[in-house]
Amino acid sequence: MKSTKSKSWAEPYRMKMVELLKMTTRQDRIKAIKNAGYNTFLLNSDDVYIDLLTDSGTNAMSDRQWSAFMLGDEAYAGSKSFYKMEAAIQKFYGYKYVIPTHQGRGAENILSKILIKKGDVVPGNMYFTTTRLHQELAGGMFTDIIIDEAHDPLNEFPFKGNVDLNKLDKIVKKYGAKKIPYVSIATNVNMAGGQPISMKNLKELYKYTRKHKIRIIHDMTRVAENAYFIQQREKGYEKATIREIVKEICSYTDGATMSAKKDALVNIGGFMATNEWDVYEEARNMVVVYEGLHTYGGLAGRDMEAIAVGIEESLDDNHQHARVGQVEYLGNKMIDYGIPIVKPIGGHGIFVDAKAFLPHLTQDQFPAQTLAAEIYIDSGVRTMERGIVSAGRKANGENYYPKLELVRFTIPRRVYTQAHMDVIAESAAAVFDRRKSIKGLQMIYEPKYLRFFQAKFKKL
Ligand SMILES: *Cc1c(COP(=O)(O)O)cnc(C)c1O
Repeated sequence: MKSTKSKSWAEPYRMKMVELLKMTTRQDRIKAIKNAGYNTFLLNSDDVYIDLLTDSGTNAMSDRQWSAFMLGDEAYAGSKSFYKMEAAIQKFYGYKYVIPTHQGRGAENILSKILIKKGDVVPGNMYFTTTRLHQELAGGMFTDIIIDEAHDPLNEFPFKGNVDLNKLDKIVKKYGAKKIPYVSIATNVNMAGGQPISMKNLKELYKYTRKHKIRIIHDMTRVAENAYFIQQREKGYEKATIREIVKEICSYTDGATMSAKKDALVNIGGFMATNEWDVYEEARNMVVVYEGLHTYGGLAGRDMEAIAVGIEESLDDNHQHARVGQVEYLGNKMIDYGIPIVKPIGGHGIFVDAKAFLPHLTQDQFPAQTLAAEIYIDSGVRTMERGIVSAGRKANGENYYPKLELVRFTIPRRVYTQAHMDVIAESAAAVFDRRKSIKGLQMIYEPKYLRFFQAKFKKL
């Protein structure tokens, strides 16, 4: 539906059911975060007031989605719920063939195994953790071809998800097009802070890849949020609907992987899509091994019903206006308080620059980890670290020292209110006011893999 052009981002829905939250005292929270080793991943969600750990699978479903749940066809084979989901994907995204999977990484696993051979190179607009890992496990090597602006938190370029075609051309010349099974394109790039790719850039990329006979595979986890930014920022798209823009984006790609836990407003689910019969046939064989039969792929019939409805709801202009509007409201409030954040404000969350927030801490004292713990103590708001802890160690055992040391405030869709956003910003401001007295952390337990999930710390 086209936006009714109201200036306010006010929500196009009202509440029919609420989930009660436990309110805690500062003393409760000091105890809880200490027990959690100052790692917000190790908190019990029951001790959290406003949970901004992720926007993945944490969305609120609508009354229509819950009613669709009751229509779920739980047949092992040929479930009519699958055909509804398939029809929604074909109608709104335009892809021909669909394979359901339990979530995004299930689709990444199958697609990477089919398309990537050992020694292949996969260029992409910034890596994503699971996407890159599956490309590597299949024998490929990821190379970053995003524009340089994406790596600079202060650069306000409106399309920081764009591809640098010169970087791509160098890779094609170096390895040859035959070694490149596809270019991996994420819409509203997560790791860059929820930053969009422009239609112009995507069209140019499409022209280039057609010429060299290379596919484009679309990580479409946040395609609707990307479409919203194109509508707001790109010349020629002011009057287009999100539906139209999403369909056009997909038309410049050859296949896709999707985590429906984000844009598509469900708690679990995903799929792989392709326009190539051969790839589809292979995927249909493979999904049976890793996920389940090709008409359920690890999902219950009711999940596929909810995805079909969620896809349509996610493409409503008023919904996206409210979704991104809420994130922008929070970001602007933080900017007003003088809190250093990544700009432009992204689609799914606010990324606070912990190095600028706590300049007296060295990176070895874990500024982002420290800040996430302090914000939790202040208000019960749970955020997550995206800095040196997340970056982990190199093969030789040395720490990576990433340029970006961020705390991510990720906003679930349709879950929290404007007053919640005020609480979050006020809490960040309260911690900002006493930032000089904040001491860093020391790591006392370090797991071998993906240490950010389970590492423990103590106060210096
Ligand atoms: C979440 C996500 C994935 C992986 O999806 P899961 O459903 O978590 O397996 C892939 N790409 C991007 C950009 C994501 O945000």
